Amino acid sequence: MMGNKMSGICLKEDCTACKLCQNICPKGCIDFKEDELGCIYPKINYDLCIKCGLCEQVCPSLNPIKLNKKSNSVYAAYAVDKSIRETSASGGIATTLYHLANKKNWMVSGCYLNDDFEAVQIVTSNSDMYDRFKNSKYVYSDISLCFDAIKLNLDNGVTTLFIGVPCQVAAIKRKIEKHRQYNLLYTVDIICHGFAPTSYFKSHIKSIREKSHKTINSIFFRDPNYKTNNFVFSLYDKNECIYHKKVKDNDVYQIGYHKALIYRENCYNCKYAQDRRIGDLTISDFSGFGQKAPIENFLSENISCIIVNNDKGHYLLNSLLNENLIKAVKRPPSEAYDYEKQLKHPSIAHELRNEFKEKYKQMKDFEFACKSTLRKKMIANSLINFFCLVEIKSFVSGILPTKLKNIIKNRL
Ligand SMILES: Cc1cc2nc3c(=O)[nH]c(=O)nc-3n(C[C@H](O)[C@H](O)[C@H](O)COP(=O)(O)OP(=O)(O)OC[C@H]3O[C@@H](n4cnc5c(N)ncnc54)[C@H](O)[C@@H]3O)c2cc1C
Repeated sequence: MMGNKMSGICLKEDCTACKLCQNICPKGCIDFKEDELGCIYPKINYDLCIKCGLCEQVCPSLNPIKLNKKSNSVYAAYAVDKSIRETSASGGIATTLYHLANKKNWMVSGCYLNDDFEAVQIVTSNSDMYDRFKNSKYVYSDISLCFDAIKLNLDNGVTTLFIGVPCQVAAIKRKIEKHRQYNLLYTVDIICHGFAPTSYFKSHIKSIREKSHKTINSIFFRDPNYKTNNFVFSLYDKNECIYHKKVKDNDVYQIGYHKALIYRENCYNCKYAQDRRIGDLTISDFSGFGQKAPIENFLSENISCIIVNNDKGHYLLNSLLNENLIKAVKRPPSEAYDYEKQLKHPSIAHELRNEFKEKYKQMKDFEFACKSTLRKKMIANSLINFFCLVEIKSFVSGILPTKLKNIIKNRL
């Protein structure tokens, strides 16, 4: 099976770095190393390898998991608790699922940023972690700690809820699918347009930290202080905000991420970006909400989309409703399927992706490679921002009476 295009186990363009191969290897001879683009792939130590083939047998890319049938159960939903929904990525559905699990004494998995700014998924019953799981981290997250923890839970008869992006749900299912207590595993897939490598994110944070001469204690990809649906990326030194930018404000990582320039190769080839889903539930933002039918007696901000994919999914949704943790309303399925690109196809690589790759390979410097590739886009953004400001200023000045304008001028 080995060849130039191989990641070590599967084809490189299919490897999601789920690390299940490493988890299963009886000789511990699989390690993950960065390639010339800063993305991690498995490397096998052939001096130790006994060629048992287990790594290939478990690889979810080589042995795809069966997907659910396309579902017509599409809901708009939000957390009843205002403080949850205003601090979560969209409607706070993942966070309410954690609270539901807590009431039922289940264990949950969630993703948090550790002190080294690496996104890590853990399995826990500690409700203090729920706040750290909240909000999307738009970067690769490592689920290697979850495999044995979830298996142990099921061995002990403990129901476990796994929430993660689809390729992660696939890996967890591969690990557990033959378990006699498989019915105790609930899965929720988060619609995902791509994972950028940890190395890019860390190098971006390092560059901001060096310029600011500050310590960085917390990071938001969708800062609740600016309303999460504005996608403001912000860094804090304790309570002091030392950096905050929207995508169009030229944060180089954000543009590279949201414009599909900087993902792992497998994301452009994602098997799960389609209308047949892998989790019991699918959750996402809801860009198509209200497009096909009027919105009646329902909030229109901080809304998530929930797709219920099977009986376990119905059980989760009904439990959230019965516990009065969320409000949900059924919506025309086309509001999800027509408007969410990742329900149709994987992200399409930015037209300058090859240029970015070449620059990164030459310099091994993310900031340089991304900034210089996106130079024209960033200049265009600056011009747009500048002219919008000028336009707003002239509009306001045009409608204010001269007397009032003079008062304001004198005050400033
Ligand atoms: C990498 C990524 C890409 C996404 N792309 C899209 C998209 O294209 N379209 C769309 O509609 N929605 C996308 N989303 C989903 C969206 O950002 C929200 O996560 C989703 O709407 C759920 O919101 P919530 O309020 O219920 O989550 P919250 O209650 O805020 O909880 C956040 C949940 O996300 C999990 N999470 C956070 N970061 C990661 C990560 N890096 N890896 C795995 N799990 C993570 C947390 O563990 C938690 O379960 C993406 C999310 C991620 C993490």
